[in-house]
Amino acid sequence: MDKAVKTPTQQQEEDPPPPSGGKQDDYTVIRMYAAREQIYPREIQGRFASLRWLCVFLTQLVFYGLPWIDWNGRQAVLFDLASRKFYLFGLVLWPQDFIWLAALLIICAFSLFLFTAIAGRVWCGYSCPQTVYTEIFMWIERRIEGNRSARMRLDRQPLSFDKLWRKSAKHLAWGALALWTGISFVGFFSPIRELLPALGHFGLGPWEMFWIVFYAFATYGNAGWMREQVCKYMCPYARFQSAMFDRDSLIITYDGARGEPRMPAAKAAKLEGGSRAGDCIDCTMCVQVCPTGIDIRQGLQYMCIGCAACVDACDSVMDKIKRPRGLIRYSTENALEQGFSTAGIRRRLLRPRILIYSAILGAVIAVFAGSLLVRTPLKLDVIRDRGSMGREVEDGIIENVYRLQIINTDERGHRYRISASGLSGISVDPPEPVDVAATLTQSVPIRVRVPHGVGEPGSNKIHIELQAEDNPALHVSEKAVFLVPRP
Ligand code: SF4
Ligand code: SF4
Repeated sequence: MDKAVKTPTQQQEEDPPPPSGGKQDDYTVIRMYAAREQIYPREIQGRFASLRWLCVFLTQLVFYGLPWIDWNGRQAVLFDLASRKFYLFGLVLWPQDFIWLAALLIICAFSLFLFTAIAGRVWCGYSCPQTVYTEIFMWIERRIEGNRSARMRLDRQPLSFDKLWRKSAKHLAWGALALWTGISFVGFFSPIRELLPALGHFGLGPWEMFWIVFYAFATYGNAGWMREQVCKYMCPYARFQSAMFDRDSLIITYDGARGEPRMPAAKAAKLEGGSRAGDCIDCTMCVQVCPTGIDIRQGLQYMCIGCAACVDACDSVMDKIKRPRGLIRYSTENALEQGFSTAGIRRRLLRPRILIYSAILGAVIAVFAGSLLVRTPLKLDVIRDRGSMGREVEDGIIENVYRLQIINTDERGHRYRISASGLSGISVDPPEPVDVAATLTQSVPIRVRVPHGVGEPGSNKIHIELQAEDNPALHVSEKAVFLVPRP
């Protein structure tokens, strides 16, 4: 929200007349819409810029590269929604394994809480797709339209051949990258090696086409056009992250005690008497490199995504004027107020909030890893045939009918022996083993029988067991109820 105080003339031109008796000069116009100012971030090099580019490479290596990796003759990472199977390298997750996906989401959420409490908006500054794609799109823009001043000049000048080809080339390059991003995204849900040929001869399904276009359009729009507007106005994380911060969380800070009073070096050189100038020479480099266009010298603002571009910019200025680095730096509110050293900041790392987040995260990771390690790639559902209660068949034998759902989540097929236990003389018919192919479910009807006189009239607990013939460790046992008719 932009609050602007208007002159009387402007008010008369733009604003509704005051109610009778009111004076126009008394009015303050509260604008609900803030017109966007085009931001032309200056390119910067430095420690944090290198770290940001490292994150860009790593995240994009994973994003664009993963769909092309094969594992056991299929795509290594594939969320196959149609057959409701999620492939993660050697792991095949079924809808019944939803608990693992939930655990993964909990791990991601607590990691975000923990890293935010320690280091503020590191996610926004280094790994968020919005930051990463904006960085890549800006790199393309700089290669085609030139540096900050050249881009500003180009936008001001009237349409010419030079402007037309540069703008067209930029949008073509952006469009191609956005399209490839959309294809890669859908490649996590539909085998990418089949997707590309299908795309070539317009053989894609409607959902695949929709998501490719949607994701490409979102990438092009968000990273090419919207940029900082997404962080400022659309991202909910920017709004609720303050709940995860405390006064010992790392943030990008301007050291006002050291920097003020700011003034250009020439003016500082002319100061006389006891007057002193701060270290800030008011060069505005920190503002020019900021992708959200803010001035960090005005204090912590929610629009700051913690990218540390201003730290690199100010450090390079300090190097030039031979002053110590760190006028803008990672620090904490408490450190700034109480003058903590780096060691003092580190000491305050082990505070209750961090310990609690770490303990919960460690526990969830341990349970997740432990349950994955002991996981059996075989599941069994036993469904009683509700149409037939326990019944007496030949020679007084009591028989119950069940339907077994055998889910082989292993990437190899197996032959399973079916048995039952829990009542003396219990047997399964048919006694032959069942073959279940890799990552398939098979439905098998069975009859379970016990001799006359065994078991109590009514419900009896039994177990139905599956044992792979080729692997003694592949074994499951499922509870079931065996009904003995009352006399
Ligand atoms: S880059 Fe450093 S010296 Fe230049 S205006 Fe910003 S804070 Fe001041
Ligand atoms: S103020 Fe600094 S850290 Fe914050 S967004 Fe701008 S350049 Fe990045």
